[in-house]
Amino acid sequence: MRALQLIAWQHEPEFREVSEPEPRAGEVLVRVGGAGACHSDLHLINDFSSGMLPFEPPFTLGHENAGWIEAVGDGVRGVDVGQPVAIYGPWGCGRCRRCQMGMENYCERQAEIGVMGGGLGLDGGMAPYMVTPSARYLVPLQALDPVDAAPLTDAGLTPYHAVKRSLPLLVPGTAAVVIGVGGLGHMAVQLLRELTPAAIVAVDQRPEALYLATDAGAARGVAMGPEAAAHVLDATKGRGADVVLDFVGTNETMALAARVARQLSHVTIVGLAGGTLPFSFFSIGYEAAVATTYWGTLPELHEVLALAEAGRIKAEIATFPLARALDAYRALREGKVNGRAVIVP
Ligand SMILES: [Zn+2]
Ligand SMILES: [Zn+2]
Repeated sequence: MRALQLIAWQHEPEFREVSEPEPRAGEVLVRVGGAGACHSDLHLINDFSSGMLPFEPPFTLGHENAGWIEAVGDGVRGVDVGQPVAIYGPWGCGRCRRCQMGMENYCERQAEIGVMGGGLGLDGGMAPYMVTPSARYLVPLQALDPVDAAPLTDAGLTPYHAVKRSLPLLVPGTAAVVIGVGGLGHMAVQLLRELTPAAIVAVDQRPEALYLATDAGAARGVAMGPEAAAHVLDATKGRGADVVLDFVGTNETMALAARVARQLSHVTIVGLAGGTLPFSFFSIGYEAAVATTYWGTLPELHEVLALAEAGRIKAEIATFPLARALDAYRALREGKVNGRAVIVP
């Protein structure tokens, strides 16, 4: 079968002919129905070199996947061939305390394992088939099509986790700011709308992203630029934001986040653009807490999928056949994807 592989760091991915995988004991083979093209793949392709991550190329890209169970290895029970499933993406050891709580995104033994998931050291979903090392990563789908479910496993789950940790702050009369309305950000707006009464302010440099945000429930869209902080403050009646979610992570977006975060707020940096935020006594409101987050938990994936199955959230998608996966990454790099690009093998 043909698979889109990262074959070397800082090198454009290439299609390679690889053998169709067979599930070994305990593993499950999934026929891929959709694989999201994520901004973090661009960082993975361009920004890393040997030794920076615990794993090395080659491997098949695609860490945001859903499909149908095709075959199971020895000893796998309780799953049905043909069942549509979403695939939980961060793969830990499964045995440490965090993993046993469903937080494989924060596995205590990740460094020792050496890989982080399918598409992150192991073969991912940019191919007709992929293997998952355990049935525990598969969440059954009901009415959701795998093409629509795939983006929920990262573009949905990652902002869900970021919003959920700040829910106690987002009571009536508060404001949440979403910086970067791409694949993750447009889901963040929907999740804030569904889970909280906070007024939502969205910031992006692309007008079409701001339309997407206001369509999804943002009270106001603000153009990224020198005036952005003033406009956000204006939109929040001068008070600033109780929660800021930065899905970009450049120096510029983090500086904006710090400017608009009010006292006692949460500033959560999700985007991997590699910026830094100077931190000093007077650089941010008193008792504002700054955190990064990585992905989400397995129980949270069930919650995200439940919201989607109920029709309450939906990823805006643009589909590309596998043969055009490089076009999808190009469009993503050029800021031309509205919502999420999903590869359909
Ligand atoms: Zn991702
Ligand atoms: Zn673990």
